[in-house]
Amino acid sequence: MGRDWTSTKAAGFTESVIREMSRLCAASGGVNLAQGFPDFPCPPELKEAAKAAIDADVNQYAITWGAKAFRDGIAAKTAAAYPGWEVDPETELCVTCGATEAMIATLLAVVDPGDEVVVFEPFYENYAPDAVLSGATPRYVQLRWPDWSFDEAELRAAFNHRTRAIVVNTPHNPTGKVFTRAELDVISALCQEWDVLCLTDEIYEHIVYDVPHLPPARVPGLEDRTVTVNALSKTYAVTGWRVGWTVAPPALTAAIRKVHDFLTVGAPAPLQAAGAAAMALPPSYYAHLADDYRERRDLLCGVLAEVGYDVTVPDGAYYALCRTSALDPAQDSSAYARRLVVDPGVAAVPGTSFFADPSDGAGLLRFAFPKRLETLEAAAERLGRA
Ligand code: GLN
Repeated sequence: MGRDWTSTKAAGFTESVIREMSRLCAASGGVNLAQGFPDFPCPPELKEAAKAAIDADVNQYAITWGAKAFRDGIAAKTAAAYPGWEVDPETELCVTCGATEAMIATLLAVVDPGDEVVVFEPFYENYAPDAVLSGATPRYVQLRWPDWSFDEAELRAAFNHRTRAIVVNTPHNPTGKVFTRAELDVISALCQEWDVLCLTDEIYEHIVYDVPHLPPARVPGLEDRTVTVNALSKTYAVTGWRVGWTVAPPALTAAIRKVHDFLTVGAPAPLQAAGAAAMALPPSYYAHLADDYRERRDLLCGVLAEVGYDVTVPDGAYYALCRTSALDPAQDSSAYARRLVVDPGVAAVPGTSFFADPSDGAGLLRFAFPKRLETLEAAAERLGRA
């Protein structure tokens, strides 16, 4: 028997079930509502800019923390979307390979082994391995079905002198929760009291339904202690381009830039040029984006309810999290999702992926809807057949 070369860190987490469900779906020829990626094209402006950059031989490394035109664009777009939010592109931005790298680079830059990081549960799958890789000890605080509110006392109890950061994700994956101003004020008060950082993943910022998205970095008390993670992926339908960024005060940005440099050197240069074009899209682009997503949400949530799931309608992001007990009496979402992807051929993500103790999510299934209406209708037809 050969030696097991797996590091303790790598042994500390499992493969991504979200990505695994995509592979199972491809193998079974199903409709993929598992991994959250669009099946419709990105805006033509991005494609033209990417092609032009390749034609212009933008083939070599950009500045490690991001091409200047792209950083300037992010700063201008941020100020346009959130009046008064001035981001200095020279000292407060770091362009990364997607929000995934932005979050792990941030954790590696600010967390020492043994530090605690507060994470709301259910959580996006990546945050658990991120904690293992950075040496952080996660402290989970529950978001409660069906409105996904948290208990203030429980949150307060999660903070102590070892707490280094809290991870916020708003709009939230997988629940669709959009954090309110009152909730962010509670988080701000605790971060100030315990001198803790707020690390916020806002990749779904423009996908909200009738509620405002409030960036934690704009909440009084959090301005100087927040790292905002974002990316082109969801807003511009280019998840495979792997272009994201962090916004943070200069000292934090300097630490993140160093880690980022030695992790990946930089994000793809021609796609950063296309990112600059994305930042120049007019406000109408974002209004249409939200309208289109509302139509997809209403279609899918209606179908899921009709099929017999107990669905919570999201206020933001593009996932519907359902209770499946009526159709899966065993309440074993992992086995149930693996059956569903074969017959009738619809991929979803088992709720077990979003909890530290998988059994807490065993009666839940997450369906993603960044899809053409015809894709959602095909899924509806299959689910109806089942
Ligand atoms: N955020 C997406 C999801 O939750 C996928 C992200 C990824 O696979 N990197 O499905």
